[in-house]
Amino acid sequence: MSTAYVYDPIYLEHNAPPGHPENKERLVRIMGLLENRGVLPRLVAAKATPISTERLTRNHSQRYIDTVRQVAERGGAHLDLDTYMSSRSYEAAMMAAGGLVNAVEAVLEGKVDNAFALVRPPGHHAEESRGMGFCLFNNVAVAARYALEEKGLERVLIVDFDVHHGNGTQDAFYDESCVLFFSTHQYPHYPGTGNWREIGRGAGEGYTANVPLPGGVGDEGFGLIFDEFLYPLAERYRPQLILVSAGYDSHWADPLAAMQLSITGYTHLARRLKAMADQLCQGRLVFTLEGGYELEVLAYAVLNTFHVLLGDEEIHDPLGPARRSERDVSDLLDQLKGLHRLV
Ligand code: ZN
Repeated sequence: MSTAYVYDPIYLEHNAPPGHPENKERLVRIMGLLENRGVLPRLVAAKATPISTERLTRNHSQRYIDTVRQVAERGGAHLDLDTYMSSRSYEAAMMAAGGLVNAVEAVLEGKVDNAFALVRPPGHHAEESRGMGFCLFNNVAVAARYALEEKGLERVLIVDFDVHHGNGTQDAFYDESCVLFFSTHQYPHYPGTGNWREIGRGAGEGYTANVPLPGGVGDEGFGLIFDEFLYPLAERYRPQLILVSAGYDSHWADPLAAMQLSITGYTHLARRLKAMADQLCQGRLVFTLEGGYELEVLAYAVLNTFHVLLGDEEIHDPLGPARRSERDVSDLLDQLKGLHRLV
């Protein structure tokens, strides 16, 4: 097994205002733990480079890209209440999208088996002409477009298990069948989209699969959703590449939401995704970092994900299982299977 990672110090220069949960410490902790545990030397470093305008404009308007650049040139500002920019945020965002594309390229060209892009700012909320929810450019959407338009792929599965709905990614492919977008998220919650009735439109109908969850769903519920809903959807779709918007804010200790996943639970989800990729698309699997705001959880969840990608059996979970019993999802699962004609 060979696994690539993407990281660049520019990602630390997207400077958060004091007290903001999406700050550089997230990556500092991840990189520190990967180094301490001896994982980094086992990985292939995929270089981050700035995304080209041609690749970025497949998903974002030139006008919005210019605005982001100009805001950075003026020293930064807030794009909305919680989406900040500092003077180097434009560069960081270009390198985040570019880094993920390089990881996808390495996997599609067979240089490595799989990869994880450890990037900031995150991307899944960013829309064509609007940054929001801590996101500037939609890294995963840009990477999927790259795979489709430059590498000749016809079917890409994007799995988004961040606790927040990936509205920007959903929008990007809502009318198309070339991407199957699957999202689990707390609902109702920020940003408010992701109702189960949102299933795509026109040629895209049936190619958006939302799993809106009440607070309190944990390891067992997520496992069932992946086994009984995601897996049959993916098997029917036959993806040629699986991209993962990996947010670790569904953990029971995360400060921004109310789900009950544990680090062990996250690791089992990663194993399922790896098995799915092995079975359906020659193991082509690329993770990209989205949210996750409890720093120890984030670092360990990413560490374990690398162990899964490398084919290791070990799990490190210093926080343990959720303290409360979890919410049942069987009724929701039945509804979703019916809606997506899986029964
Ligand atoms: Zn999130």
